[in-house]
Amino acid sequence: MPAGRLSVCATPIGNLGDVTLRVLDALRAADIVAAEDTRVTRRLFARYGIDTALEPYHAHNMEKRTPILVERIAAGTHVALVSDAGTPGVSDPGARLVDACIAAGLTVEVLPGPSAIVTALVASGLPTHAFYFGGFLPRKAGERKARLARLSELEATLIFYESPRRTAATLSALAEALPGRSACMARELTKIHEEVLRGRIEELATALAEREGELKGEVVILVGPPPRVRASEADPDEVRKRVEELIAGGKSRSDAVRAVAEEHGISRKDAYRIAHEP
Ligand code: SAM
Repeated sequence: MPAGRLSVCATPIGNLGDVTLRVLDALRAADIVAAEDTRVTRRLFARYGIDTALEPYHAHNMEKRTPILVERIAAGTHVALVSDAGTPGVSDPGARLVDACIAAGLTVEVLPGPSAIVTALVASGLPTHAFYFGGFLPRKAGERKARLARLSELEATLIFYESPRRTAATLSALAEALPGRSACMARELTKIHEEVLRGRIEELATALAEREGELKGEVVILVGPPPRVRASEADPDEVRKRVEELIAGGKSRSDAVRAVAEEHGISRKDAYRIAHEP
């Protein structure tokens, strides 16, 4: 392994005990540690008696700092990269530096460890055989709705990061777009106030609406895959009645078909066919 390299180091998402021995060694051995927030990383350093030089590397200085770090690595410097929590590069600054190092032909090693995605997925109890990480959903209602419509047919557990302030609104948008699904809200994972709520998406949306404005900490929202039943098991009269009901209630035909497909656990194509059968 060349002396000049980038070590991407995963750090705890809450509990400082969740750091790996290999990450501690790399943080001690590196010439510099590029950190998203040096104050946050100092807490980790204090706990483990590390005194490697820290330099800020975050969303607001990464354009300027990336070429400088690449140049130093090329000249033989060992740079370790950490973010505030979890794996750098996952919804965090880091991907840009990794990409620039690869483009410059430099050595990049990733030291695995915690990430809120996998921790929340396993804690949720939802299917893990296939999952989709969607980062933070768009804040604009129209964009969010379009994104969720595209994701509604995906046979995978959906995982989103969210801020506590927007959790209630996002759950309500998810309940509207993906009715009847199993879901989970995981908050403050690995911390003292860890909370994992599981249930139907509508139940979670109602429960969190009651706590609007009070929710604190860090949140992951998960939605299970569409429950699949054979179209022949769905009652065609029920499907047709429900589509007409939703249209009468103000939904467009395509939104109504999508909602009914979700409710009955059939594909949108089958719901459309049944709803339009003579
Ligand atoms: N790089 C990190 C990782 O690998 O998990 C994620 C960074 S992203 C900027 C921060 C988001 O991750 C938070 O808004 C929250 O959605 C999620 N997150 C981080 N720590 C968490 C925790 N302890 N419990 C729940 N969610 C967490």
